[in-house]
Amino acid sequence: MPELPEVETIRRQLAPELRGKRIENLFVLDPKWGSPVGAAELRSVIEGRTIGDVGRRGKYLIFDLGDELSLICHLRMTGNFLYDADPEVQYQRAVFELEGGHALRFTDPRRFGTAEVIAGEPALDRYFAGRLGIEPFSGELDGTALRGLAAGRRTPIKAFLLDQRQIAGIGNIYADEALFRASIHPMREAGRLTKAQYDLLAVTIVEALQAGLDAGGATIDDFRHSDGLYGGFQNEFLVHRRAGEPCPRCGTEIRKTVVAGRGTYTCDACQKRPRGTKPRSAVRRASRSGQRP
Ligand SMILES: [Zn+2]
Repeated sequence: MPELPEVETIRRQLAPELRGKRIENLFVLDPKWGSPVGAAELRSVIEGRTIGDVGRRGKYLIFDLGDELSLICHLRMTGNFLYDADPEVQYQRAVFELEGGHALRFTDPRRFGTAEVIAGEPALDRYFAGRLGIEPFSGELDGTALRGLAAGRRTPIKAFLLDQRQIAGIGNIYADEALFRASIHPMREAGRLTKAQYDLLAVTIVEALQAGLDAGGATIDDFRHSDGLYGGFQNEFLVHRRAGEPCPRCGTEIRKTVVAGRGTYTCDACQKRPRGTKPRSAVRRASRSGQRP
């Protein structure tokens, strides 16, 4: 699933292309994309409008359509916006025909991506207030803020990081990378880190996201840039998807377990596992090696 760096990469590519362009036609090829609003209604609201800026909150793209009208799109698992792509590209769900013969195509093989039109700034604020927490690059994310949000929470710190209502934009890749950078095990209780760990984690979250952004995002599954090219951050993961490889810091074998229902990658030497927690893959490992986990 595209996370903050992937969505921001798309935004940075689309914004200069789309800014000031009039939407001449909107073809909704999959009515589920804008549901519950029907394709005809979506067309009537959007066609003829000129795109202003393209913004982002968390993993949402926000297309400013003027008159305080915003089109809010979430890519979910496999959504992509392709600018001036091959008209025959697969899995198109919506096509924006723009002035000058340009086109913006939304492709989405798994069809979980969504689109919504929101009218008025207050409604836009309310929409995000209920869904998204701190924006990592806003300057508001520091150890004190993190500690305040996590206070009293017994959920694993990884599950806490994946909760968009706490911090917006982090998904499975960047949670693993930020926790490794901070030498914090993903199973640690969110509310029981040390002050120094909250301070460090606030820094490593931003560092991990920035590294992803610098590489143009990570391409696993279907993520592509708006020009169809791929991001490169998957080649720079420190631990994510590196099971069996040596830890870049200490050489211990990186292992994959399951935390918060997600495949999770750790160096158990650098990220000390909290007492009383067992890795989910322990049984299988024990039977293979003939040793106790
Ligand atoms: Zn290590």
